[in-house]
Amino acid sequence: MNKAFQVIPLGGCGEIGMNLTLWRVDDSWFFVDCGTLFADEHLPGMDLIFPSLDCVRERGIKPAAWLITHGHEDHIGALPFVYSEFPAPIYTTQFTAELIKEKFRGLELPAPEIHIWQVWNRTTFRQASVTPFPVNHSIPDACGLYFETKYGNLLHTGDYRVDRSAPEGSVTLDNLAKITAGRETLLMTGDSTNVFVPGRDREEKQIAESLLKLFDGVKGRVVVATFASNIWRVKSAFHAAHATGRKVVLLGRSLIRNYEICRRLGMIDDIDENIVISQEELKLYKPHEVCVLCTGTQGEVFSGANRLAFGTMDNIRLDGNDLVILSARSIPGNEKSIGVLINQFWRLGCRVLTGKEADVHVSGHGYSQDLADCIALVKPKMFMPLHGEYRNLVQHINVAMASGVPAECCHLVENGDVLTVAPEALGVTDRWDVGRDFVGSERVVSGSSDVLRNRVMLAKNGIVEISLVTDNSLSRMLGEPKIFVRGVNTRPNRVKDALIGSFRELQRSQRKSNWTEESLSEELRIAVRRELEAEVGYKCVVTMFVHRI
Ligand SMILES: [Zn+2]
Ligand SMILES: [Zn+2]
Repeated sequence: MNKAFQVIPLGGCGEIGMNLTLWRVDDSWFFVDCGTLFADEHLPGMDLIFPSLDCVRERGIKPAAWLITHGHEDHIGALPFVYSEFPAPIYTTQFTAELIKEKFRGLELPAPEIHIWQVWNRTTFRQASVTPFPVNHSIPDACGLYFETKYGNLLHTGDYRVDRSAPEGSVTLDNLAKITAGRETLLMTGDSTNVFVPGRDREEKQIAESLLKLFDGVKGRVVVATFASNIWRVKSAFHAAHATGRKVVLLGRSLIRNYEICRRLGMIDDIDENIVISQEELKLYKPHEVCVLCTGTQGEVFSGANRLAFGTMDNIRLDGNDLVILSARSIPGNEKSIGVLINQFWRLGCRVLTGKEADVHVSGHGYSQDLADCIALVKPKMFMPLHGEYRNLVQHINVAMASGVPAECCHLVENGDVLTVAPEALGVTDRWDVGRDFVGSERVVSGSSDVLRNRVMLAKNGIVEISLVTDNSLSRMLGEPKIFVRGVNTRPNRVKDALIGSFRELQRSQRKSNWTEESLSEELRIAVRRELEAEVGYKCVVTMFVHRI
């Protein structure tokens, strides 16, 4: 199909995270977002996961541009790892651009080519044009995209919520009305994160009011932990601190970095610079004059919150007069580490409040009725959910149908599916194999290599390494074999017995004359592994080196 308008998600349609979608207009390809997902304990030594671009590489596809909706890790995290191979101008808003630049700088990579978008301004490419429009979200400068082609228009919501008293200054619904006014939208693609939460999301203003009430009357310090990118929440905490006569200390590299970016961009001019004090200055203030703003809501080991909880921070020891507010959601999978953190604060005698006990968090993603309101307003001809697990995508289609999109015009598209929307709306017409790549210690590990498979196998099974020297005829062991046992429930002496027994057994066998170092090594490896299996209960990894002298 040479001439077509297609949408191909490589990540984000089947999980919440690692968003990357391709938009194709004839021979032009637009890469939308490029995010990561945090690796869990099933991936030993890996920190991040992102969609492999093998499928793009093998088709010889080059991006005309990268279009980035906002600066969350699930939208920009993988850019530094793929950009040098797929270079193209990056188009995004100012705050997002600053975060991307920081990422490249942090990894000592050459700066990418970034074009800063002014929202509502159209950027024209050879086969299409795109207009970013502001949406409410839990990070500044988040935008949706209106993509115009000769085949029809695509509206991509980006991550969004609907906040009727939005700190951004405009409301998602009003902006959707403005961008779609007088235009027909062929396809709408939208954020499915909170589709199972009934009703409408609350407003950041409510959290600001709630924080103020909670700060009031606390005898000791107030600690607010939040995501570093949630500048609205940071501002709400600043205002509560100011109103209750507290200075603010910022803990956490990313929090300090984002605060500085916002300062530079004039996004927090309403906050008095003098309210911020350094960690050293803490000793000049009484506990009730202090608010600590920190990262670490997910129980991350090196975060500010964790160091406060475990008392490893200079100039500050929390006690029973202090209030700790975890002002963020818990990301699924992090429950255990968050539990450890909260228990540790309790151990210090602190009062701890999370979104369960108090009004201290609103989501950055619209609830089901918000999503329905937006779809009903845009009235797209076709709808495709993204940014969700499979069940979110299905439920979002249910919402779209209830909002007036006919069932046959709703497309359930998974990662790798090629959705063809024009010149004919054919639905899913092809399927690409989409793999996953990984990042461990800031280096990319290809999912198609055997690094990860071996890592998992070693982590599960442990390893026994044996090195032995024989005479030239391979019939007599010389000296003591060297044996290393790592993570296997046996002792080196036991392995040695198995080795000597197996060696003798093999000497008696008829195949002796055919041996080479390699074949003897392999026979011994299998024999020792069999012996050990009887002892430890499974086939462990055994490596064997035979050296002939
Ligand atoms: Zn986001
Ligand atoms: Zn996202």
